[in-house]
Amino acid sequence: MSTFDSPAFRRFVETFADRLHERRDELTQLDSAIGDADHGINMDRGFSAVRGKLDELAAADLGGFSKGVGMTLISTVGGASGPLYGTFFLRLATSFGDRASATPDELGEALRAGLDGVRQRGKAELDDKTMVDAMSPGVDAYEAASADGMGAALAAAATAAAAGRDRITPLVARKGRASYLGERAANHQDPGATSTTILFESLRDAVAES
Ligand code: ADP
Ligand code: MG
Repeated sequence: MSTFDSPAFRRFVETFADRLHERRDELTQLDSAIGDADHGINMDRGFSAVRGKLDELAAADLGGFSKGVGMTLISTVGGASGPLYGTFFLRLATSFGDRASATPDELGEALRAGLDGVRQRGKAELDDKTMVDAMSPGVDAYEAASADGMGAALAAAATAAAAGRDRITPLVARKGRASYLGERAANHQDPGATSTTILFESLRDAVAES
């Protein structure tokens, strides 16, 4: 597939919602080690709400659809991750605008805008041990491979996000609740970097299906 359209976006959102639901306990378990044991619950709550409105949301253009996802996350998810993922989808929405579909380059621009929004909102830098450490290499890898087509770029992005997730496991956190733990946060996998990896894997698989 050479363009990303509303049906592809819907498959992505549904796949991400399914996987967050299936892996809810795993994400919450990770957050119980270095946070407050709610990341799986938070993400599942938000994406269950999105799922409940999918027919309505998917009727819009790409920008309207993504904006609806972002607004739903912001209004239903407490904690750090709700506003951060909400901002990600709102920035995607601004970048997509009223397009019915996006080319590989346009999808790359939208993902880059989403990452920039998360960085601005949460003020996390690389190596702070957050979702940014999976999202940033994911977007970089997408851009580096986008000339090979959307499927190849998304495959590269998912692999890079997973590598980012694993790379920061030994680190001490400098942002979010895990930062309160100091050295005790070292050698634990970050829950937000894990859900961001699931996001990129869902995007890859949703596009590969089409
Ligand atoms: P909370 O920490 O409020 O309980 P969640 O448990 O849902 O929220 O999400 C925790 C995840 O959010 C962390 O694992 C981390 O990846 C991410 N996170 C926390 N603070 C920030 C931040 N300032 N910027 C980017 N990501 C962050
Ligand atoms: Mg938490």
